[in-house]
Amino acid sequence: RIAFVNGEFTPLSAASIPVMDRGFLFGDGVYEVTAVIERRFADDDAHLTRLDRSLREIDIPNPYSASVWTEIERDLARRNGLENGLIYIQVTRGVAERNFQYPTGLAPTIVMFPQFKRVQDNPIIETGAKVVTLPDQRWSRCDIKSTSLLAQVLTKQAAQQAGANEAWMVRDGSITEGASSTAFIVTKEGQIVTRRLSSAVLPGVTRRTIMKIAHGMRLDLVERNITPDEVLTASEAFYTSASTIAVPVVAFDGQTVGEGHPGPVFQTLYKTYLETIMAQTPE
Ligand code: PLP
Repeated sequence: RIAFVNGEFTPLSAASIPVMDRGFLFGDGVYEVTAVIERRFADDDAHLTRLDRSLREIDIPNPYSASVWTEIERDLARRNGLENGLIYIQVTRGVAERNFQYPTGLAPTIVMFPQFKRVQDNPIIETGAKVVTLPDQRWSRCDIKSTSLLAQVLTKQAAQQAGANEAWMVRDGSITEGASSTAFIVTKEGQIVTRRLSSAVLPGVTRRTIMKIAHGMRLDLVERNITPDEVLTASEAFYTSASTIAVPVVAFDGQTVGEGHPGPVFQTLYKTYLETIMAQTPE
């Protein structure tokens, strides 16, 4: 695999950053993940817009304009022969003596690499996922896509140990979001529900696209809190992320969700999402 590190393309196995990088010492950085499906970049502009916002929120200068980011992504994909997979981007504050406070004028550290994976062929789309609830142990700025992911690491590990594919995190009696995804339910009345955006959740790019698709189909959409009890009485549940597109939930805290298999609303949204991506011109 070829990586991009601070302006240079280099074999990933040989790529390195200094130990004094603040991303390493403090998790002082942000990241993005964009899916590539048959050489089409999924929601790339929205990911680059969110990267810019995350950087701005933590006072790291964005090293590139969106068009330069796009060019580097295309170049990285070409050099790797990446037709299906993910492009990971990380920007940290840079290298400095270890102090919590940071000096001005640091050069951000930029790391990009691909992951090979056919996100569109995930077998879980057919079988459905098991989800468990776990406490939301994160900080109060979950709208920033921070590389400080210790809470999610521990939460996803606990979910796996419980035999689940994903954790839906609960704070103050409501589900905030998945440990690495946005949570949705479809009520018995056919209403698609997801939590409204705030500092409690990441503004999911896939969430936005799925909502646009639902809106275009004149489906009933509402943004409000969801309780764990509501998932058990919902007709469907699913979660979205760039690295999975959308995944149907068939079991929740050990109980069956809806009919216990991927539901029609999920299937329609998933299919339309893929069709929308495939309608783009390949890179
Ligand atoms: N919420 C959290 C906490 C995430 O980590 C992610 C993705 O990794 C998402 C939601 C989904 O966001 P997106 O659809 O932009 O990938």
